[in-house]
Amino acid sequence: MDQPFSTHAQTLRTYYADLHIHIGRTNRGEAVKISGSRNLTFLNIAKEAANRKGIELIGIVDAHAPVVQRDIREALDSGEMREIPGGGIAYRDTVILLGTELEVREPGLKEFHFLAFFRSLSDIESFTSWISPYMKNVNLSSQRIYVPVRQLQNEIVRRGGLFIPAHVFTPHKGIYGSSVHRMEEILDVSSVAAIELGLSADSEMAGYISELDPIPFLTNSDAHSLSKIGREYNSLRLLEPSFDEFSYALQNKDGRRIEANYGLNPRLGKYHRTYCASCNSILDEDQVTGERCSYCGSTKLVHGVLDRILTIADRDRSYIPPERPDYKYQVPLEFIPGLGKVKLRLLLEAFGSEMAILHRTEEAALSNVVGEELARYIVLARSGELRLSSGGGGTYGKVSKTQKQGS
Ligand SMILES: [Zn+2]
Ligand SMILES: [Zn+2]
Repeated sequence: MDQPFSTHAQTLRTYYADLHIHIGRTNRGEAVKISGSRNLTFLNIAKEAANRKGIELIGIVDAHAPVVQRDIREALDSGEMREIPGGGIAYRDTVILLGTELEVREPGLKEFHFLAFFRSLSDIESFTSWISPYMKNVNLSSQRIYVPVRQLQNEIVRRGGLFIPAHVFTPHKGIYGSSVHRMEEILDVSSVAAIELGLSADSEMAGYISELDPIPFLTNSDAHSLSKIGREYNSLRLLEPSFDEFSYALQNKDGRRIEANYGLNPRLGKYHRTYCASCNSILDEDQVTGERCSYCGSTKLVHGVLDRILTIADRDRSYIPPERPDYKYQVPLEFIPGLGKVKLRLLLEAFGSEMAILHRTEEAALSNVVGEELARYIVLARSGELRLSSGGGGTYGKVSKTQKQGS
């Protein structure tokens, strides 16, 4: 083999990764993410990712909970899963990274969420022992931890963990969306491993904030149900899916890298635009200068992500560093007009996984299974060319059947 970075006969290749999945319930039915689905268990997430989605690297962000750790131990003891030398838990061809999502609040500011990932089950168990005294219930998801954020960062990094602010621009508990204008006001930016853009922002929007230039971007689903796994994801160039390889990709080390972010066009996001809760209008940027709706005068405005970014921007126009991976707009299969459960099942039977349908199957082959029109939509979804309307105030924008012109 003449591959430049091959070891143990492995070579760099593309893997798909979604690093923000919650646990709804444990195997014994204990609630972890109370709003999450009942069937969203550690084992079911692994199965869904491996068998149906075709996602080879999964981040579970409720693995700090001792009741979840018990489920993980049981899966390891039964031989159904195994810990791998590079860090993470393997189930078939998929590797699970063990992580947490926590809420933190600095004095005088609003709270925000961050993710942290650890290399092994014993590492995250030890982190759990450390955080428990600072939390009300360590068995629940996304709980507040009463520790200054710099101390938390130090503790995570000292344990070999990765610190990643979550859904940073969302008005609901995103660090930029609700807490600060600059991360450097409250954090050590040099030990931020990456940020998660969140469902209503893309790299172009994030390019208005200069302190983000050196920081990698991730796009994840924040799934609260099995079907939402992979609605946003990343393609990574790795030797294998593992904790170590993931952290090398964030550092662009020896050929490992993030190849692309796949996400909804932000216009489809629920919180993209500022929205009037009285008359249901979505307001354009130039209409939200004041605190009143320009249509009905109401003050019941729900601020959107784009408008928040433009408020906190320190640049007049977006700048995307040349080394930043492409952000590819992708309409999830569930949004494609006419693609219901039956047709999706036919496609999965024919091509194996959603990633295979979205990335690896020719239009003609799709067409043989579900007909020309649907095959065409899937190909347009792949390239982000389905027409979308703006989302705002908690509703998604709509996908229309009209093909986007001249793009
Ligand atoms: Zn969150
Ligand atoms: Zn979450």
